[in-house]
Amino acid sequence: MKKETHHDAVIIGGSYAGLSAAMALGRAIRNVLIIDNGKPCNRQTPHSHNFLTQDGNTPTGIASIGKSQVLNYPTVSFITDEANMVNGENNLFQVYTTSGRLVYTKKIIFATGITDTMPDIKGFSECWGKSVIHCPYCHGYEFKGQSTGILINGEKAYEMGRLIHNWTDQLTIFTNGESTISDEHRQQLATMKISIDERPFQSLTHKEGYLDGIIFSNGDHVEIKALYARIPFEQHCAIPQELGCAMTDAGYIQVDDFQKTTIPGIYAAGDNTTMLRAVSLAVAAGSKAASVVNHELCAGH
Ligand SMILES: Cc1cc2nc3c(=O)[nH]c(=O)nc-3n(C[C@H](O)[C@H](O)[C@H](O)COP(=O)(O)OP(=O)(O)OC[C@H]3O[C@@H](n4cnc5c(N)ncnc54)[C@H](O)[C@@H]3O)c2cc1C
Repeated sequence: MKKETHHDAVIIGGSYAGLSAAMALGRAIRNVLIIDNGKPCNRQTPHSHNFLTQDGNTPTGIASIGKSQVLNYPTVSFITDEANMVNGENNLFQVYTTSGRLVYTKKIIFATGITDTMPDIKGFSECWGKSVIHCPYCHGYEFKGQSTGILINGEKAYEMGRLIHNWTDQLTIFTNGESTISDEHRQQLATMKISIDERPFQSLTHKEGYLDGIIFSNGDHVEIKALYARIPFEQHCAIPQELGCAMTDAGYIQVDDFQKTTIPGIYAAGDNTTMLRAVSLAVAAGSKAASVVNHELCAGH
C-alpha cells in the first residue's frame, strides 16, 4: 500500500465537472485530491463547441487550461489513477485506487461521466465525434446545409427530425430496419421534406472519421456528410451504484438540486447525472457541487 493521505474532499474524475469542482474548493482553501484516469467521453472529437471563451478549442486544450488554473491553488492536487473502491461513511470515507493508494476523505464528488456504447456498424466508432454526432449544439453548425442523416426510429424520430431540420434541409431519417414511426409523424416529417429510409445498414464509409456515406445490407450506397445518433451508455464508474446511490430509470446517478446523491457525503456532477450533455453544464454542476460540499464542511455536517 502506498502512502495514505487525508483530505476534505476527493473528486473522482478530473475532466470538466471535476476540475470545476476542484477550482471552487481550492478557492475555499479546502484540501482536495482529484483522481482521474484520463478517459473523458469527448476525447475523439477534434474540436469542442458552444462553451463560452473556448469555442472551437480541442477537448484536451480546454481541460489542460482548466487543470493548470486549478493546480495554481496550493491545497489542490491531481493524480492520474483509477478509483476502484470506496468504503466508509460521511466524514470518513476511504477511497482505494488501482495503483494501491488509500485515501481518506470527508466528502466525495463523483464527476466520472458516462461511456457511450458503440453499435455494431462498421465505421461507426471511427466516425464518432467527428461526423457521427450526438448533439446539434456541439457540432450541427459545422454541418449546416449539408446532406445529413439521423439514425433513429420510433416515437423520437419526429422530434429529432424537426430539431435537426433547423440546421439543414437535406435530411433523411434512417431507421436501420423496419420503421416504427407513426403515420401522423410520417406525414409531419414529409411536410418538412424529411424522408425515411428503412434499409438496414451494413457499414459507414469515411476518410479518417469523416463520412462519405452509408452502405446498406443490400449493397446500395447513399452519400451523406453527417449522421446524428443517440446511442446507449453506461456509467463510466460503477462505484456510486455499488455504494447504493439511487439511480434514475434512464441510468443516471440520482441527485437533488444541490448535486447530493442519496448517500450523505457523496455528491455527483456532470454527465453521470443528466442527459443534458455539454461542457458548460458539466462545469456548472461541478461548481455547484463544490459550493454545497464547502457549506456542509463549514456546518460540520
Ligand atoms: C463525441 C462527443 C463530442 C462532444 N462534443 C461536445 C462539444 O462540442 N461541446 C460540448 O459542450 N460538449 C460536447 N460533448 C459533451 C461533453 O464532452 C460532456 O458533457 C463532458 O465531457 C462531461 O464532462 P464530465 O466531466 O461530466 O465527464 P467526462 O468529460 O466524460 O470526464 C469524466 C472523467 O472521469 C474519469 N473517470 C471515470 N471513472 C473514473 C474512476 N473510477 N477513477 C478515476 N477517474 C475516472 C474519466 O477518465 C474522465 O476523465 C461531447 C460529447 C461527446 C461524447
